[in-house]
Amino acid sequence: MSHVPVMTAAVLEYLRPENGGLFVDCTVGLGGHARALLEAGATRLIGIDRDLDALARARETLGPWSDRVELVHADYRAIDEVLDQRQIDRVDGTLADLGVSSMQFDSPGRGFSFQRDEPLDMRMDRSGGDTAADLVARSTERDIADAIFQFGEERLSRRIARAIVEARHEAPIDTTGRLATIVRRALPRRGYMRIDPATRTFQALRIWVNRELDGLDRFIVSAARRLRTGARLVVIAFHSLEDRIVKHTLRALQHDGLVQVLTKRPMVPRDEEVERNPRARSAKLRAAERIA
Ligand code: SAH
Repeated sequence: MSHVPVMTAAVLEYLRPENGGLFVDCTVGLGGHARALLEAGATRLIGIDRDLDALARARETLGPWSDRVELVHADYRAIDEVLDQRQIDRVDGTLADLGVSSMQFDSPGRGFSFQRDEPLDMRMDRSGGDTAADLVARSTERDIADAIFQFGEERLSRRIARAIVEARHEAPIDTTGRLATIVRRALPRRGYMRIDPATRTFQALRIWVNRELDGLDRFIVSAARRLRTGARLVVIAFHSLEDRIVKHTLRALQHDGLVQVLTKRPMVPRDEEVERNPRARSAKLRAAERIA
């Protein structure tokens, strides 16, 4: 269950840790990018993650640099509080590698994947909040349909929501296997399918459970405001809904004269990287530099 960091060369090129400085990795995950930043010269690193299992893994990965690293269990949308608590005003570079890690996706028992039958959890932060099973049990048919449509970009969302509500009258939908079966049965059979028909619904639920799009724009604004002049922010998004928010927010900040966007188009990984690391497949990297 290794996690290969995505587009590390580009992250280092944009963030330029060679001359040292304080870097914030807002999604430290297993510590892959953080380690690369430290190896390349970062003198201090704050690593944030909302997943305690990820922080434990990052602690191992970053062991050799423990005197330069502070790991924080927080939501990156609280970046202002995290920095204020440490009396840090500005930083020398910030990274956000959004979404779930391959560890979260592949670990048994987390409920992100329909490849295994397990409890329908999907929370990145298991210290609280509703699980996917809770949302599926308690939400109205309308809200379920809206979430599947909006976050999964699934045209047949209504049909799926209807099937979910019918099925939950019979028995709780509390496993990934049961949900996947309900979704697959609700959809018309097609001869050849590139992706499992449950994929979009699972993506939607994951985004819903973790409120992945809420406040992403505000987070980017806060992160940009906390950069020293000349310092940079790198954001890697993994689906179009996320990337759209990143793109629009960075453009708005550029329009306001706060940053210069360095990536006219998003950078994407090379084919070799996608072959080696499936998580890289849909990655889009955008970077901006603080100018005022
Ligand atoms: N760059 C990391 C991998 C990051 S994977 C590495 O190289 O190892 C994305 C991580 O972001 C996951 O660990 C996930 O728990 C975390 N995450 C996602 N949304 C978050 C949020 N809102 N606040 C804090 N961490 C978040």
